[in-house]
Amino acid sequence: MTPPNNSSQETQEIIKKKTPSDFIFGKVIGEGSFSTVYLAKDVQTNKEFAIKVLEKAHIIREKKTEYVMREKEVLRILGNPCQYIVQLYSTFQDSSRLYFVLTYARNGDMCKHINLYKKFSFECTRYYTSELVLALEYLHSKNIIHRDLKPENILFDQNFHIIITDFGSAKIQEKNEEKSIETDKKRKNSFVGTAQFVSPEMLQECKSTKASDLWALGCIVFQMSSGQMPFTGGSEYLIFQKILKLEYKFPDGFNERVKDFVEKLLVIEPNKRLGVSDSTPYSEIRQHEMFHGIDFNNLGPPPKLSDTSEPISSDEADDVSLNLEPGLDSEKVSRLVLKDMLPDVPIKPMNRKKSEASRNLTEISQDEIESRLQTQKNNPYNAFVGNNLILKQGLIDKRKGLFPRRRMFLLTLGPHLYYVDPVTMTFKGEIPWSKELRTEAKNFKTFFIHTPNRKYYLEDPDGYALEWCKCIDQVKDHYFPTKQDQS
Ligand code: ATP
Repeated sequence: MTPPNNSSQETQEIIKKKTPSDFIFGKVIGEGSFSTVYLAKDVQTNKEFAIKVLEKAHIIREKKTEYVMREKEVLRILGNPCQYIVQLYSTFQDSSRLYFVLTYARNGDMCKHINLYKKFSFECTRYYTSELVLALEYLHSKNIIHRDLKPENILFDQNFHIIITDFGSAKIQEKNEEKSIETDKKRKNSFVGTAQFVSPEMLQECKSTKASDLWALGCIVFQMSSGQMPFTGGSEYLIFQKILKLEYKFPDGFNERVKDFVEKLLVIEPNKRLGVSDSTPYSEIRQHEMFHGIDFNNLGPPPKLSDTSEPISSDEADDVSLNLEPGLDSEKVSRLVLKDMLPDVPIKPMNRKKSEASRNLTEISQDEIESRLQTQKNNPYNAFVGNNLILKQGLIDKRKGLFPRRRMFLLTLGPHLYYVDPVTMTFKGEIPWSKELRTEAKNFKTFFIHTPNRKYYLEDPDGYALEWCKCIDQVKDHYFPTKQDQS
């Protein structure tokens, strides 16, 4: 099936060159390492878009020009005939910034919804897998390999259909496959993709083909169906080892049909993955028993993600109208400039000793607590934690509003998660604990802590976000055990 064609006169109109003052910029809807994404309204048509703004100086300094150009080129090649793929309506620039005007995905990313509902029902898993298959068929028919497919890069539009985004790591497959493998090899040391979703061939030979996206599809289907990623570990190295050994386990109660489908995609040898011997459409995939009863030519409306998952009633329009002046105002500009001023800190692999890494943070005897509390008296941050034992501490950039602030985070028994300004050595606050507190690692640097009233946006400049999440989870499990933990 050719996915529905979105092209309309309205779309054509917007292709002519725009400038920032053609849009009213609203709230920030997301931030990437090199970009800030705004909700914006076209002044003339009143249509909403997501505008990704990139600071030129930051891109150049971080040597990401190729990444940005590739994203633009790939989106240009893809054009607009597939509703499941983000559309680039227009690009423009001013002296310091680049602007990408994109389809606005109102309902966040898939990751958020998996976390919210713990996992998807069989109906939802199957429906969204079908949309992903259609999207991949379109991408691959255009000889584009995404190479970084994962729930975070799958957004939901206003009607809860998927929109695949983030084509910065994509590859335009050349006719001569040998040549394109060479291109990958040249990049041997630059890691493409995300550890948990990367295919074995990418790890072993730095080679990616369309089958690598099918591997990622297998990982995503596993995650939709179980709420967990198939390959996890405390460091990239450990995750890679598991991928190469195909070491993963289906949790109890995993749907048998989905299991069979995943097993046919998570195959080490790329040429043996389901669908690989088809040119698109992927008939072998479409015929899998998991899709029994699905009409790929007409998927119909998506099933509800949960009984309460009505499309979120949108107050975004209000957010847009708050900023009545077209273009980017000075507050918004200062956010971009600040991002450029953040220190460059390389992502380091985990380097804790194995014995330390495998030990649960809360497994401490009373004697050990006493003796560590004695030693802690020499710690300059002891003054801020009451008489609570510090289990972990480290500098974290905590974002609030426009500015990230560097804070010393102190995870203690109690439990408490205090933060202190390390420059003025003043106490700044505490993230409130409850059984609802939840961590979410976005990548090796960025993680979120969700509390009932607030989402904390945190960045570990040293790249230990996963370890922070693991430690916080251990403390949470200790103080707020689930029924499963107790039994
Ligand atoms: P990084 O560059 O660090 O890998 P990223 O690729 O997610 O991050 P962006 O593509 O700039 O960076 O997106 C930043 C965030 O903005 C995303 O995580 C997403 O939440 C939001 N976002 C991006 N594009 C859209 C869109 N078209 N509609 C709605 N939200 C979007």
